[in-house]
Amino acid sequence: MHQYSNLQELQANLLMKKFSMEDVVLAYLDKIKTDQPTLNDFITIMEESALEQARLLDEKIATGVKLGELAGTVLAIKDNILVKDQLCTAGSKILENYIAPYNATVIEKLLAADAIIIGKTNMDELACGSSNQTSYFGPVKNPVNTDCVPGGSSGGSAAAVAAEHCAVALGSDTGGSIRQPASFCGLWGLKGTYGAVSRYGVTAMASSFDQIGPLATNPDDLFRVFEVLQGQDNNDLTTLDYKFDFKNAEKIDIKKLRLGIVPEYFAKTDKPELYQELLEELKAAGLEVKELTLPEPDLALAIYYILQPAELSTNLARLDGIRYGYHSAARETLDAFYRNNRGAGFGPEIKRRLILGTYVLSAEYYGAYYKKAQQAREYLRAEYRKLFENIDLIYIPTTLGPAFRLDEKMDPLQMYLEDIFTVSANVLGIPALSLPLPYADGELPRGAQFMAAWQREDQLQAIGQFIYNKIHKK
Ligand code: GLN
Repeated sequence: MHQYSNLQELQANLLMKKFSMEDVVLAYLDKIKTDQPTLNDFITIMEESALEQARLLDEKIATGVKLGELAGTVLAIKDNILVKDQLCTAGSKILENYIAPYNATVIEKLLAADAIIIGKTNMDELACGSSNQTSYFGPVKNPVNTDCVPGGSSGGSAAAVAAEHCAVALGSDTGGSIRQPASFCGLWGLKGTYGAVSRYGVTAMASSFDQIGPLATNPDDLFRVFEVLQGQDNNDLTTLDYKFDFKNAEKIDIKKLRLGIVPEYFAKTDKPELYQELLEELKAAGLEVKELTLPEPDLALAIYYILQPAELSTNLARLDGIRYGYHSAARETLDAFYRNNRGAGFGPEIKRRLILGTYVLSAEYYGAYYKKAQQAREYLRAEYRKLFENIDLIYIPTTLGPAFRLDEKMDPLQMYLEDIFTVSANVLGIPALSLPLPYADGELPRGAQFMAAWQREDQLQAIGQFIYNKIHKK
């Protein structure tokens, strides 16, 4: 592989013509082809179009045309984000033949910035899961240790970056699906403020939680890609009117950041001392640290697993095999046709959530569950608003432990508990970053998580870059 530590360096090399973009893409494609049979991280490899994009970029370089800010960035895209004329399965049988008719807004933005798309990545079915084991296209293996899961639901995206199949990948994060796989694969993952990034052209999971974001090997690439993705979009009226600017982070004085920690959360993990070590570094750098008692620690998870299935069940109503997607040959009655299509098209985890979601939305139980959960969500938002008056960042673990083994059977409830530290950011709509704690060869990575107040991704970038320079950069 061509060696460069981040995209800036790669761009400089391209401009100095040390190698061509075509060389870079060919090297990635080679590596993908070697590893794909084992890792299974891609659903579609876009060999032809990636090479074509690379040649176009080489031409631009040769003729001295001004390059876009992501020129040279090779990206893999989670398979729930539409890339025109490519398969977009969302990891589900019901969409196994679905070809995207248009580009998602994020794809338009990446292409306009001269990024190159190399393929579509495997994922948990319709983004439900924390291990990538629910995909109709089979599980993905963790490149750090192939006996283990890569995490989910953006497991293919995380594996693709960790295996050097691309420089950066896009994932979607509804309850942790960028941060948890980033944590399991030793990567950096960012979920922005709800509304920071357009959801237009994304297979909706739970619309009031979903956000697209990047996974990368370093904070520089992560936030540069985020800068391009972010911004208001007329096609998604939930997008917010503010602009994240990569350059702003350098104006932030780390010593002035007030850091909130929850010591019991570190104690819940399998290696509290690792989290403590990073904390000591931050204290030594002069950050003010406050111990927090978070309002009702388990509440966010309970809220999530009521509202998420509710929203999922309404969003998935459109997947009935009538207009598009898988449909069965048996169609004696309309009712049977629906049942056959959805019965065969969805896997067990989706069916579980559809039952849960329609139950909490049913006339009889709506008040007791759905409405209550909405009220609790508002209560939590108000509590955190108060909390953020006295602190800037909250530092907690991303997960309880490292990647678990592929053959470890987990019951659904145990799997839902995987999200205990990640769902709060989605329930509240605040931005959150997962970054890898240092780990030795042969060990499994673990992630540290930083959450900031609404629209303060600049503070996450500042702390991320500080930690990177301090402990990651060789
Ligand atoms: N593990 C969570 C779930 O299964 C998160 C999913 C996600 O963020 N897409 O719902």
